[in-house]
Amino acid sequence: MKTTTKSTTAKHPKATQKISDFFGENVFDTKAMKAYLEEDAYYAMIQTKKGNRKLDTTTVGSIAEGIKNWAMDSGVTHFTHWFQPLTGLTAEKHDAFYKPAVDMQSRGIESLSASELLQREPDASSFPSGGLRNTAEARGYTIWDPSSPVFILETKNGKTLYVPSVFVSYTGESLGNKAPLLKSLKALEDATVPVCHYFDKKVISTIATLGWEQEYFLIDEALFEKRPDLALTGRTIIGNASVKGQECDDHYFGVIPERVQDFMKAYEMESLKLGIPVLTRHNEVAPSQYECAPMFEEMNVSTDHNLLAMQILQNTAVKHGLRAIIHEKPYKGLNGSGKHNNWSMATNTGTNLLSGGKNPESNLYFLTFFINVLKAVNTHADVLRASIATAGNDHRLGANEAPPAIISVFTGSKMATILERFKTDGLNKDVSVEEMILALDIPKIPVAPIDNTDRNRTSPFPFIGNRFEFRAVGSSASCSLPMTTLNTMVADQLSKFYISVEHLKDKGQQQEDAIVSVLQDYLKESERIIFNGDGYSKEWEVLANKRGLPNVTTTPYALEGFNTKEARLLFANNNVLTERETTARYEVMQENYVHKVHTEAELLIEMNQTFVLPTAAAHIQGLLKTYNGFMDIGLSHAATTLKQDIEICAEFQDNIRLYLQELKGKLNKAKTITDSTKKAKYYADEVLVLFDQVRKNADEIEGLVSDESWKLPKYRDLLFI
Ligand code: ADP
Ligand code: MG
Repeated sequence: MKTTTKSTTAKHPKATQKISDFFGENVFDTKAMKAYLEEDAYYAMIQTKKGNRKLDTTTVGSIAEGIKNWAMDSGVTHFTHWFQPLTGLTAEKHDAFYKPAVDMQSRGIESLSASELLQREPDASSFPSGGLRNTAEARGYTIWDPSSPVFILETKNGKTLYVPSVFVSYTGESLGNKAPLLKSLKALEDATVPVCHYFDKKVISTIATLGWEQEYFLIDEALFEKRPDLALTGRTIIGNASVKGQECDDHYFGVIPERVQDFMKAYEMESLKLGIPVLTRHNEVAPSQYECAPMFEEMNVSTDHNLLAMQILQNTAVKHGLRAIIHEKPYKGLNGSGKHNNWSMATNTGTNLLSGGKNPESNLYFLTFFINVLKAVNTHADVLRASIATAGNDHRLGANEAPPAIISVFTGSKMATILERFKTDGLNKDVSVEEMILALDIPKIPVAPIDNTDRNRTSPFPFIGNRFEFRAVGSSASCSLPMTTLNTMVADQLSKFYISVEHLKDKGQQQEDAIVSVLQDYLKESERIIFNGDGYSKEWEVLANKRGLPNVTTTPYALEGFNTKEARLLFANNNVLTERETTARYEVMQENYVHKVHTEAELLIEMNQTFVLPTAAAHIQGLLKTYNGFMDIGLSHAATTLKQDIEICAEFQDNIRLYLQELKGKLNKAKTITDSTKKAKYYADEVLVLFDQVRKNADEIEGLVSDESWKLPKYRDLLFI
């Protein structure tokens, strides 16, 4: 296999350099704020981050001055608002600090005014809005989010100051993903604090915590550039399986190749300087698949950090002559990539609300939050499913190596037993604490304490001892929408729980009894969502169906979860999205689906017409020549055998032609459908199904023709770096 043509330009920390020496050096963090802000401004920033106040223009001016000075001391020349339009990606538009002098007599100055820091007006007309914005009111604004720190990104071309921002329309509607996330965090906190007060009066604030795990593939750039499908769609739309794949499980947690480690070190260095606490790295299940995970953080910051990390992964790969692929399913027949969203809530008093401690069965504080999450997922499973629906993720969910498309919760056997008991007997206060240890009968190996929670890789939403892990999120997705959805569902649920408990208290019940009895009812209602078996099995599909759990495997149908009155009210009642904003997201996601599948269809046609079919034709021509030669010299037996080969190849190419005809017809028909939902469903039901047919035949041809004539790098080249 070829090696890269480009040399490594990234710098590594010296072996002696500690992470603590440079962690966060490119972030305007507390240390930088202390050094560069006036005392009032510093105090205002701290209070704003805590959500205790809103900044006024004078203070913003003073903060802007401090930020500009800090940035310029690092050699920054430009600044940009950094926002999250509904494309799901990030967007930016750079402006120089430099302002020419009005009189043209002097050279001008560098500055960052209050209004520049606070608000920008990008040309919003080209971003998807799902009908929220017609051209008459096309203005869109980005507004600084002071709760996520500004940072400096460095490229070959210089340094730029990035200002995390929300993206809203002229009328204040959310055109992006950050504003709803912030609103959902507020809703969750507002619903959580009163419930915490049942157990701890000292709680004054809570946060949601998010620790993401990002899976990705690496590939040599020389090979990547020869695969138009990878370059244009992020996945291989044709390609015969390699004789060696992931069957041997020899890649998972295997030794990380040195070239990859070089890349990882550079990526981590960059991330750590930006305050992203990436601490874990390992090989994943499929060949050339890897994972990185940071320590969890407050959710808004963590979400920004994930978006940034995806960018750094890709940029660093380029510097190392590699490409990082974050598509959910780059290769057929191999594991896809997910982004596991580890989610919990924590109080200002330091309690993780989903940690049961040593005695979960007697811990009503924990059980309250645990059972409310179960209930929320049970009530809104369809909305949660919609939040992760994309064309890319469809190839993964339910594909027998990823979480199924059926939303369920894995509790683990220990929690299952506890819940079973709680349902009938209530709180069990007499349990004795026993530390679980693993006493091994192996000489010299010490006794080790073990975690009493089990794991399940087949569940979309397992409980992992002190958090839930939303595993079904796609690797290329922003955490924003799935987390906004989860926060909102749980917020809504907790508010209802509080009302029910208060109602029982008003009727004279003791608080603890009231809590227990409401939770018992919830458990009985939500049992169907608990599943502790093998989520990949056929039996689960049957059982889930009996339980009435939806199993929606394609995006256009899964998105219907956002298109119900219940879903719209859920977001609207919690002040996260207005009904119009929810509908807009639904529309944009349907449109995105159509664009993705359409592009793939066009490329499939092109690659087959310009590459697969001509290659097959040349192959057949060569065989025919040999056939005639055999006949000429009277080798009729050899000629007959060869004829069979010719027939087989001819049939494959004939099939491709027929399916391409059909595909083109369907694409033409699709053009006539104007309603975005109908169109998306047409693509899922009529267009996408033909992909496999075309591919099957193309892959057969790949397996027949000579290596020299097959110009596309094969799976074996792509996968084994
Ligand atoms: P695994 O692969 O076993 O699931 P990893 O170590 O790769 O585990 O990732 C676990 C992630 O869960 C990390 O990002 C970790 O910080 C995060 N995490 C741990 N505790 C919490 C919590 N209370 N809230 C949110 N995330 C958490
Ligand atoms: Mg992991």
